[in-house]
Amino acid sequence: MVFGLVGEDGLPFWRRKVPTEVPKGPEHMLRTIAANIDDALAETGTAREAVMAVGVGMPGKVDADRGICMGASNLRLRDYPVAAKIREATGLPCYINNDVKMYIYGEALYGAAKDSRHVLGVTIGTGLAGALIIDGEPYGGYRNISGEIGHIPIDGVKRVCNCGMVGCLETVVSAPGLARSAREAVLAGERTLLADYHDDPAELTAVDVSRAFDAGDQTAIAIMRHAGRCLGDVLAYLIPMLSPDAVIIGGGVALAGERLLGTVREVLHAKVSKSYIESLKLETAVHNDDAGVIGSAAWAVKKSKE
Ligand SMILES: [Zn+2]
Repeated sequence: MVFGLVGEDGLPFWRRKVPTEVPKGPEHMLRTIAANIDDALAETGTAREAVMAVGVGMPGKVDADRGICMGASNLRLRDYPVAAKIREATGLPCYINNDVKMYIYGEALYGAAKDSRHVLGVTIGTGLAGALIIDGEPYGGYRNISGEIGHIPIDGVKRVCNCGMVGCLETVVSAPGLARSAREAVLAGERTLLADYHDDPAELTAVDVSRAFDAGDQTAIAIMRHAGRCLGDVLAYLIPMLSPDAVIIGGGVALAGERLLGTVREVLHAKVSKSYIESLKLETAVHNDDAGVIGSAAWAVKKSKE
């Protein structure tokens, strides 16, 4: 869990990262949240009465209107009234939404897309997720679950995804996806620097792919280009429908930067009509861990005024 106390400028001036400790159960999670909010106020000399609201971005299916987590398997929550529980534990109004939506909302308001009204955001880490900001507002779609573009199937990809389908975008474009491509190349006997990094190819990571890429390794370059083409192809379908003025790539794998985005740019220029992309901003997120905090805080402030 990442905590931040956010000032009137929309940015955090106190922050902390703590383990979620899921196996200890939801009540433990609530106590951790309440304790860290107490610390934030005490350490910054902020009066509780000065806090407008608590905003929470959380994984999974979130009913933002009712403040209920409908299902988040990695938190072991189902139909859990998160907002009401936090309100009870802290005495503060609380508003929740999906974490990826809040991350991209944060980037759209105060980050890489701060001058854009229509933002298509992608976060790439252990998986790949997306979010839309339309006319300055996070777009939920039916059940507030829009954006799961990591599960769009890609032609020619045969990997089985965690979701049970075959060939999902995130099986290639994610930290585990890139690591798997590296591992498969080494196990196939390709002559690559990747073979020298670890005794056991199972230890290869996405960061290793970037490192070998920078050393001019052809295998690493091919892995990154393939990932860029897969992501570019999906964006090439989405962009004409949505006409965003910015596409923002966040999450840990965004640190690959132009190694990945270079190919995405090439694909978009080849496959998308000029009118959509001549002034399209395609950039990496700037706030990283803070983006979710910034977006969640802005969401809570907005909802508390409604
Ligand atoms: Zn999938």
